[in-house]
Amino acid sequence: MAQKMTIKKVGIPKSLYYFFYPDLWKTFFETLEIEVILSESTSRKTIELASSVAESENCLPIKLFDAHILELIDKVDVLFVPRIISTIKKHCSCPKLSVLPDVARILAPGKVITFEINENKIKLISSLQKFAQELGFSNSIAKKAANRAVNATKKHTEEKEQSKKTEASFFIVSHPYNLYDDYITGPVIKKLKKMNISYEIIEFKKEKRKKDAIRWDTCGEMNDNLFQLDPEKCKGVIQISSFNCGCDSVMLETSRSVLKEKSIPFIVLIIDEHSALAGVDTRLEAFIDSVRWKNEQNCNS
Ligand code: SF4
Repeated sequence: MAQKMTIKKVGIPKSLYYFFYPDLWKTFFETLEIEVILSESTSRKTIELASSVAESENCLPIKLFDAHILELIDKVDVLFVPRIISTIKKHCSCPKLSVLPDVARILAPGKVITFEINENKIKLISSLQKFAQELGFSNSIAKKAANRAVNATKKHTEEKEQSKKTEASFFIVSHPYNLYDDYITGPVIKKLKKMNISYEIIEFKKEKRKKDAIRWDTCGEMNDNLFQLDPEKCKGVIQISSFNCGCDSVMLETSRSVLKEKSIPFIVLIIDEHSALAGVDTRLEAFIDSVRWKNEQNCNS
């Protein structure tokens, strides 16, 4: 057994993997009796910090990650940053997620703890257990923390699934760290509510998919969901994409053709640190009006 590290407070940035594995990290560390300090939710201040420190060519989620890390540095003993290679067996994650610990080490030298998430080689529950052992915890405590953490995230997904509205008319897709960051998706949700439009947000189940599916994990899940949409029920799809997202730049055309085939209207809202989605109102309103107009024309014909 490795010598136990003395960690009282671990910092977790409220970005990227925090949203991708809801409830998992907090449950994991708290079972190990390590206090979890989260960064503040994304705000204008976070965006300003991100623009001043991050590499300008990066997508917004990666820029925000830098700002969330910087906010935590002086509040914690260590920062937790996993190396994400694959979150679904036989798939791979965006390559930018595989270098996060290296990026974090530049910002916070000597403070980063990490382990590799690679479902192609080892299940998450086993790699979590191994990670806890590497931190110096006994086999039984490590096993307990890994089990609890994986169950917590499963429970979260199941509860969300059960609370789904069935009458939703618009479907919102994006990567989880865009969707569940209120600063990014909040303006879209607010606008839809204001217009009294029902909507549903994609749920990421991280399940192995059929053989010919797209091999990028989140993009593949989005694509599968679009394939399954029923044109009788779904009036339109709203995709939130980050400026300079390499994966989306390849996949958006695929989404467009899947939805064109089904005659489902589609809009892509691009976000960057200058706009986030604050100026989204007009475009969204125009999109919804055009969908309404199209439906009225179909009813009258
Ligand atoms: S998938 Fe796109 S938005 Fe997500 S980290 Fe990669 S480049 Fe950025």
